[in-house]
Formats: sequence, structure tokens, C-alpha cells
Amino acid sequence: MATIGFIGLGNMGGPMAINLLKAGHEVKAFDLSQAAVEHVVSEGGTAVASAVEAAAGADFVISMLPAGVHVQGLYLTGEAPLLDVVSDNALIIDSSTIDAATAQRVSAAATERGLSFIDAPVSGGVGGAIAGTLAFMVGATDEQFAKAKPILECMGKNIFHAGQSGAGQIAKACNNMMLSILMAGTSEALNMGMKNGLDPAVLSEIMKQSSGNNWALQVYNPVPGVMEGVPSSNNYQGGFQVDLMFKDLGLAMELSQQSNSPVPMGSAARSLFSLHKSKGNGGLDFSSILKLYQDS
Ligand code: NAD
Repeated sequence: MATIGFIGLGNMGGPMAINLLKAGHEVKAFDLSQAAVEHVVSEGGTAVASAVEAAAGADFVISMLPAGVHVQGLYLTGEAPLLDVVSDNALIIDSSTIDAATAQRVSAAATERGLSFIDAPVSGGVGGAIAGTLAFMVGATDEQFAKAKPILECMGKNIFHAGQSGAGQIAKACNNMMLSILMAGTSEALNMGMKNGLDPAVLSEIMKQSSGNNWALQVYNPVPGVMEGVPSSNNYQGGFQVDLMFKDLGLAMELSQQSNSPVPMGSAARSLFSLHKSKGNGGLDFSSILKLYQDS
């Protein structure tokens, strides 16, 4: 069993760390939020006072932070960069969704020091993090991937080797751009149906069994009351925040610009989420994009 330093125990990182504990690993838990640390400690984790303490002597260091700026600060440019303290034989796994360029920069800096840093962003939402069924998209060498896989399997069901450093983040940007389009499109269709007198549960079932079927309809319906246990039925609390989806769409736009790939649908989705965020909805789950249609 491995000793794992886990940094960033929020909506996703908390349940991921708990699944590592359930698999029998030792978890040294750190987050800026004491409540987040205590939740993991209540499941058997060990609280540490700093990220440095979490990383020092660990076999694996896993981070699950909001954005690239946090990841770069943690490992490279902050007051106490973790690349200065991790053990030579440790593997650093960053599961945050960040830009591929930052992942590649931190990975290159790690390699220069004889260390290993891989990108392994996830898909599957908070439900997938709790159930241990996340999909991991990994950017790593074959050797790094082989070492990470048994650990990632404690938290996920599908572990994909997307390619070399940064490839996991590129796959993630493509996926989340697609997800934003699907959620906005699903909300658009459901709102039109409801405005024309249809029961959203009935319309959802029809589209689910027809050619409009997609992930939002299957497991994440945006209309309150249609599905139990999803953020829409809990005042859009928990889940995946509009702020984070907006960040991810920014990453997709950067990628499209760098690679000269046209993304008119992704751009439209980004504008919708931007408008929704500007109305004070950044902290709500992203399925609340339905409200933008209902309020207009
Ligand atoms: P969150 O805001 O719930 O959690 C982030 C945590 O990081 C917070 O607890 C915060 O206190 C902590 N943190 C920030 N800076 C820190 C630092 N320097 N040191 C220690 N802790 C620090 O966010 P989340 O929903 O868990 O998302 C985390 C990442 O996972 C993001 O990159 C997000 O895009 C990605 N993601 C989220 C979902 C989802 O459904 N929520 C799904 C897939 C991927």
C-alpha cells in the first residue's frame, strides 16, 4: 500500500481521496479549507499542516486544484514549490483541469530535476468521484502511465492513456467543450417543449429513447424534479460549477486558437455560460444554464 499526499480536497478531490483510503492506501490530506481536510480525516485520512508536508516522503502526490495558476504555484513558482521536496522515486499526478501548456511546463521542470509529473484530468462529475467510476485521461510516458494506473483505478473505472505530457488536458478540453454544447442544447430543447405545454419528464424520456439522446438526459437532467440526486433537484448546488465550466471553455478557446481549429458551437456555448455567469450564477452547477433560457 502506498503513501499518498493529496492536495485539494474539494467537491472532486475529497471523494477521490476517500476512495484511496477505502482501497487501503495512506492519505496525507491538505487543503486550504479546514472543513475539507476534516471530511477526509473522518474517513481515515491524516491531516497535515501544509502541501509540503503532504508531499514530502510520499510515494504519490495527487493534486485536484481549480486552475493552472494554482498548479503552477503549487509545484513551481509558489513560496514552497513541491518540486523541491518530493522524493526522487515519487510520481506526481495532477488531476486538475488546466491548460496543456502549464501541464507540459511543470512536467518539463520535473523531468529536469529527475522527477515525474503527469496530467490526469477526469470526467464523471462528483457522482463519479464518489462512486469511484471516473474516467481518467492521462498524458504521460508508457512507464509513468503503468505506474499511475493501479492508483487511478482506485478512483476510476476507465483509465485512458491519451498520449504524452499535456495530451490528457487536450482530451479533457475537447470533452468539456462537447459537454457544454450538449447541456446548453438539451436545456434549449427542454425549455421549448415546456413552453409548449410538454411535461419535461415525458419529453426527456422521449428524447432519451430517440436520436436526441445524450449524457445530460441520461444522468444529469437540468430540469428540477425530473431526476433524483442531481444538482438540478438540489437548487443547482454541488456538482460542477458554472465558473469551472467557463474556465474549461476558455481552455478550449485557447486550444482552438493555437491549432487553428474552428469551434463555432463551442464559442456559442461559451457566450451562453459567460452571460449566465455575469448574472451571478457562477457558483451554481452548470446544468443551471436552463435558467438562462427560462428567464429570457
Ligand atoms: P472545488 O473548488 O470544489 O475544490 C478545489 C479545492 O482546492 C478547494 O477545496 C480549495 O480550497 C482547494 N485549493 C485551492 N488552492 C489550493 C492550494 N494552493 N492548496 C491547497 N488547496 C487548495 O473544485 P472541484 O469541483 O473539486 O474541481 C477541482 C478540479 O477538478 C477543477 O480543475 C475542475 O475543473 C475539475 N473537475 C471538476 C468536476 C466537477 O464535476 N466538479 C469534474 C471534472 C473535473
